[in-house]
Amino acid sequence: MPAFKTLDDLTDIAGKRVLVRVDLNVPMADGKVSDTTRIERVAPTILELSDKGAKVILLAHFGRPKGERVADQSLSLIASAVEEVLDQHVRFADDCIGQPAADAIAKMQNGDILLLENTRFHKGEEKNTPDFTAELAKNGDIYVNDAFSAAHRAHASTEGLAHHLPAYAGRTMQAELEALEQGLGQPKRPVVAIVGGAKVSTKIDLLSNLVTKVDALVIGGGMANTFIAAQGIDVGKSLCEHDLADTARSIMETAKTAGCAIVLPVDGVVAREFKANAADETVEINAIPSDAMMLDVGPKSVALVNDWISKASTLVWNGPLGAFEIAPFDTATVSAAKHAAERTRDGKLVSVAGGGDTVSALNHAGVADDFSYVSTAGGAFLEWMEGKELPGVSVLTKG
Ligand code: AMP
Repeated sequence: MPAFKTLDDLTDIAGKRVLVRVDLNVPMADGKVSDTTRIERVAPTILELSDKGAKVILLAHFGRPKGERVADQSLSLIASAVEEVLDQHVRFADDCIGQPAADAIAKMQNGDILLLENTRFHKGEEKNTPDFTAELAKNGDIYVNDAFSAAHRAHASTEGLAHHLPAYAGRTMQAELEALEQGLGQPKRPVVAIVGGAKVSTKIDLLSNLVTKVDALVIGGGMANTFIAAQGIDVGKSLCEHDLADTARSIMETAKTAGCAIVLPVDGVVAREFKANAADETVEINAIPSDAMMLDVGPKSVALVNDWISKASTLVWNGPLGAFEIAPFDTATVSAAKHAAERTRDGKLVSVAGGGDTVSALNHAGVADDFSYVSTAGGAFLEWMEGKELPGVSVLTKG
């Protein structure tokens, strides 16, 4: 990955207006922020800039207002949660451009923090229009992007601004990029990827990219059924995309050419109902009863997966191995997650995980903190796994 500038390159910024793109797209319940994780992630960047005497001006989106002012998607609703996490006074301006922003910025002292209203209240944000980007740029001397999770979008505040102002990666962006570089950029080999989750259809690009990059690809979860069925094995009533049999076979062919081992389940835990504590049984993969569905990979498969984790120097993980939300079908995911965590703690493995339900699966296993890096970025993380260029990242590395 080409080099990018970080806060370490930003000296002498007292009194400078720094526009910081952050991810404040937090979940709400009863009008209150119900999970402050995203605010906590960007706090170090904000506080570091404030400590250095910069005027810290926060840009963020909230929800999908599609260029309209929508009252319940106003960032004013989360300003107090930001204050609480930062333990600092946070001012608010009810527009991200124009007079409201200019007036609020004019009142700022060195070290002050100002939150500007939702960038997506303007159509120019998502369209990345030159006019809107120039309006945003007027408010700053320096641009810092700390929102990796929005980096797969070429929006005004995530990409456009970097063409107007000197651009730097914030601490969270930096940590994410360094972790991803270790995961697939310049990884220590062997590299093993685990991909699970419900469906192949949502992860075709991801699987196709991974088989050209990793030494072994473990396929679990519902999507494994499609691969198993593609080899002529009856998967009973299991979740299966039979129409993707050709796709599955072609991914396996590509893997073979690239020298990537594909690791599929050899046994499974099946049930007749998709509910907690449904009567279950463990069967060989070619003996799934026609009226049953596979909801987790079986113990022999777990041993196989854990063996691959033991052999790996680097692990990249997206998606659970089974229907982990309902017991006992969380067994394989929890076992593999714990094993990967232990190898990581012992310094033998670099483990990078993220996307969709992966974070909650690792939290469920109680090991998220033990992984080298767990990305909460969702879409951006998946696009990175798909090998796509992320506009918000490439613009930081080109200048
Ligand atoms: P994804 O968002 O694609 O990562 O999919 C995650 C979902 O896949 C979770 O809600 C799991 O319950 C579900 N899942 C994993 N394995 C299975 C399976 N064997 N059958 C049905 N659903 C599964």
